Amino acid sequence: MVGEGERGLRVLVVEDQRDIAENVWDYLERRGYDVDHAHDGLTALRLLERDTFDLIVLDLGLPRLDGVEVCRQIRHYGNQTPLLMLTARDTLEDKLLGFEVGADDYLTKPFALEEMEVRLRNLIRRARRGEHDGLRVSTLHFDPQTLQFSREHVGGMLSPLQGRVLTALMRTSPAVLRHNDLIAAVWGTEGGDTNALHGLIHSLRQLIDKPFAQAMLVSVHGVGYRIVDPEAQRDSRADGTD
Ligand code: CA
Repeated sequence: MVGEGERGLRVLVVEDQRDIAENVWDYLERRGYDVDHAHDGLTALRLLERDTFDLIVLDLGLPRLDGVEVCRQIRHYGNQTPLLMLTARDTLEDKLLGFEVGADDYLTKPFALEEMEVRLRNLIRRARRGEHDGLRVSTLHFDPQTLQFSREHVGGMLSPLQGRVLTALMRTSPAVLRHNDLIAAVWGTEGGDTNALHGLIHSLRQLIDKPFAQAMLVSVHGVGYRIVDPEAQRDSRADGTD
């Protein structure tokens, strides 16, 4: 059974084989997960650009763009969502390739749905443990549990809403988080708008950026915000951020 608090975890299932996709979808939904499905690699990439998921189940052999390439691309753009790769062949090459491009675990077909869920729960547990000591991007450190942040010699405590903004941005870093996704991450489906978000961003900048020559919280005009490593930023001035 899914434990308390596991309900509502968002899973993206990327699988072109209809029967497998349906089985996985039904099983996970009955367990309380919130499931989305893509039947090919390009559709998966589009969904992953638009939406945030807690877990990804990704088939290796897919039409249009295979699972290895999907995984490679999302990791390249900084998406660290826990990912379980499904492979039809139990070969060492497939497994190594999967891990090399950033899969967190793999499962060989055919598999028991119960085993798949155990593996997914392990991935979630591992991801949460990884955040136990807080989030870090370059010299910026933030602990979502205590709301304490620090950047070099500056430190303090954020408000819960500021903390949610920073958590979402640091988890996504260095990728851009779109305005709407950020609003959803902070307020969920109720409340929150662009003005309220701007207010929070402004107050966060006063704390984490104002004392420093280089900003880490940057706007991407017309798209959203992201947290950047100022060292890496120095080499890519012309990428549209302010
Ligand atoms: Ca397939």
